[in-house]
Amino acid sequence: MTERLYQGVPGIEETIPSSRTAIAREHDPDALHEECGVAAIYTHPEAARQVYLMLYALQHRGQESAGIATADGHHLSNIKGMGLVADIFTEEVLQKLPGNLAIGHTRYSTTGDSALLNAQPIRVESTKGLIAIAHNGNLVNLGTIRAKLERAGAFFQTTSDSEIIVQLIAHSNATTLVDAIADSLSQVDGAFSVVMMTRDRIFAARDPRGFRPLSMGRIVGEDGAPDVFVFASETCAFDLLRAEYVRDVEPGELVMVSPDGITSRKYSTGVPQTSCIFEHVYFARPDSRIFGRWVQESREKMGRQLARESGVPADLVVPVPDSGVTAALGYAAESGIPFNFGLIRNHYVGRTFIEPEQRVRDFGVKLKLNPVRNLLAGKRIVLVDDSIIRGTTSRKIIRMVRSAGAKEVHLRISCPPTTSPCFYGVDTPRKKDLIAANNTIDEICSFIEADSLAYLSLDGMLEACGGQPMFCTACYTGNYPTDWVDVDEILPAMAEI
Ligand code: SF4
Repeated sequence: MTERLYQGVPGIEETIPSSRTAIAREHDPDALHEECGVAAIYTHPEAARQVYLMLYALQHRGQESAGIATADGHHLSNIKGMGLVADIFTEEVLQKLPGNLAIGHTRYSTTGDSALLNAQPIRVESTKGLIAIAHNGNLVNLGTIRAKLERAGAFFQTTSDSEIIVQLIAHSNATTLVDAIADSLSQVDGAFSVVMMTRDRIFAARDPRGFRPLSMGRIVGEDGAPDVFVFASETCAFDLLRAEYVRDVEPGELVMVSPDGITSRKYSTGVPQTSCIFEHVYFARPDSRIFGRWVQESREKMGRQLARESGVPADLVVPVPDSGVTAALGYAAESGIPFNFGLIRNHYVGRTFIEPEQRVRDFGVKLKLNPVRNLLAGKRIVLVDDSIIRGTTSRKIIRMVRSAGAKEVHLRISCPPTTSPCFYGVDTPRKKDLIAANNTIDEICSFIEADSLAYLSLDGMLEACGGQPMFCTACYTGNYPTDWVDVDEILPAMAEI
């Protein structure tokens, strides 16, 4: 049964869940996980339902928990639960969320555990009134600020770093709410794209470096009705609502939508933009436009560049679905080698499954992917994927392609080797577990049992993403764009032991 937490919902008493239920991680430990997705709307008679639709489109950014908070000018209601958006928000549950303002969140935990209490939006009663917040990213000075706030008497409901922002707002000396929010955002460091809601206002902001995406859209009002404003982590969330893309929320910008209209202010300036390039490589949906360009276009160019840099004689280009598909199409177009879906992904694999009693080798990967034998048999295959993390999954996939009869398997990766962990909202293993941090490309090739292995160059990846010096590439270069305030927390994760 789906466990839910109700806060401020008319007619339902708030009950703190007795268990700290955690949902099992996906069974592929070699996969990188999306961080979170956020969405907001101002104002719509079916606000909860519209945010539900946006979260549905953002489900790929987090599958552990989801939540929606609504406001009707007086009350602020919040319902969140563990699991997928469509499982938590049934028709009956959505009807318990009144109001024409809403924010929503879908989560994969990167800090804090995955318990229901840490699901978002987080709703906090503060000296500035009721506030709900939904956050995508990771703060890098979390420990320092949390300790400072606790000394000042703050009591935290969750272990999530997102609550830090709300507590800073509550403890700010600023006299207006918008000043308190700007004050709060200027004290935290790291990656954050946030949406916030009070009883009658919506706020949207990005960190000064613009690590994570956040876009603004508009549903044009009909017959003289005012326009409806929407915000979402990715523009693919606008399409179901027939909202048009207006612009990105700028790095260091705080946007407020209220009964008085839209206002914008820069709470931080002069910090260079370092948006996460891995959003273009892997996380974001290809039908989204983020950081000013279409993800589909970047990925196809990565594939083309990869073919130019490390072409190999072959009979067929095969993507590792789903995220390798667009780069593989680019590789095939550039190289002239035919493309086909030689691996089929089962999209209906749930979080739990019954394993056969007799152990099956590489069972987890086989459950997800299956080879198309008549396409692969006797062929020289170029397999295109977006990354190698520990190397174990790549080895299993290559074995699978070989066991289907492939004569040769050449693995091509549409980004450079992942050599450093991410501290900005992407769940990466520690450095000691990243195969490329501790092995040469030849050693990795031999471990994964490929006939050849090549990665896209750093310059090639940047060029494919528009050639602008506006990206964080730290997981490939180790050049982190922030200072390490909480160095004690960061160093163990960086250690190679
Ligand atoms: S370290 Fe990598 S995954 Fe993390 S923000 Fe930078 S580019 Fe993105």
